[in-house]
Amino acid sequence: YRAKRAGGGHTFFNVLRDQHTSAEMEMLTGLHHALERGEFQLYYQPIVDARSRTTAAHEALIRWLRPDGLVNPMAFIPLAEASGLILPLGRWVLREACTAVARRHLKRVSVNVSPLEFGQPDFAAHVEQIIQETGVEPRRVLLEVTENSLLDPVRSSEVLQALSGLGLRLALDDFGTGYSSLSALAGLPVEILKIDRSFTRQVHEQSREGQRAKELVRAMIALAHAFGLTTVAEGVETAEQAEVLEALGCTYLQGYWFGRPTPLRARDAAAP
Ligand code: C2E
Ligand code: MG
Ligand code: MG
Ligand code: MG
Repeated sequence: YRAKRAGGGHTFFNVLRDQHTSAEMEMLTGLHHALERGEFQLYYQPIVDARSRTTAAHEALIRWLRPDGLVNPMAFIPLAEASGLILPLGRWVLREACTAVARRHLKRVSVNVSPLEFGQPDFAAHVEQIIQETGVEPRRVLLEVTENSLLDPVRSSEVLQALSGLGLRLALDDFGTGYSSLSALAGLPVEILKIDRSFTRQVHEQSREGQRAKELVRAMIALAHAFGLTTVAEGVETAEQAEVLEALGCTYLQGYWFGRPTPLRARDAAAP
């Protein structure tokens, strides 16, 4: 912003240099090269049907395979978002995930969308283009948005309608951590609520906190079902948590108990 006002010869990096520390600049340079060199990889984590325990879909989770080791998204997604690099990166993620489904490596895939991507005027057009390029069946692709993407109710409703019109399915990620009410969701074409891991973590505990988490999850599931939404519990790490969530009527479960995120190649090699 400051660089723009100063005017003249402001390249991408000149603008950024004003807004980021040198450590961030170093990481940003690395991220740019990573995109060019193909150092990003998608890992996929199963989402299972709570009753049958069969895999219904996989969530795509990005990893940066740097020469000195693997970097998790929490270490670079915020910077990619703040710098705008998430825009080309997000398109890469969606194209890669859709290709995996189009090639029948996965039945269905769930892809995270950042608020900056969601807020682009041409977001739905980009998604449509990627759907067409890859030839994926749109119903097999889920887009996960967070409440931060839905702060402007009119615009977010338009974008969600456009995406839903393409045949994609929509999920609200990290539900219960923000401020959006279910009544605000009622008019939106969102089909799935992902209950945040902070609730799942305690849901099986006998403690007061555990009881409270359980009642909150019970209420979230009841409301979701009243609005015709399906629920996914995130971060299921134990059999006890899975049992409680299944008993509460949660539709799908996701977490280390059922499988960690793994690259496609490992899965292919594992499957006979
Ligand atoms: P998220 O979308 O809520 O994804 C779930 C996170 O919980 C993932 O972390 C997953 O590995 C982790 N997780 C799954 N099961 C368990 C469990 O049983 N226990 C625990 N402790 N953790 C579990 P990950 O892969 O590090 O991703 C973190 C966040 O980064 C994601 O949260 C999402 O917000 C963001 N992210 C990941 N990939 C992408 C991407 O391609 N695009 C965008 N925009 N964001 C992404
Ligand atoms: Mg997610
Ligand atoms: Mg989540
Ligand atoms: Mg989360």
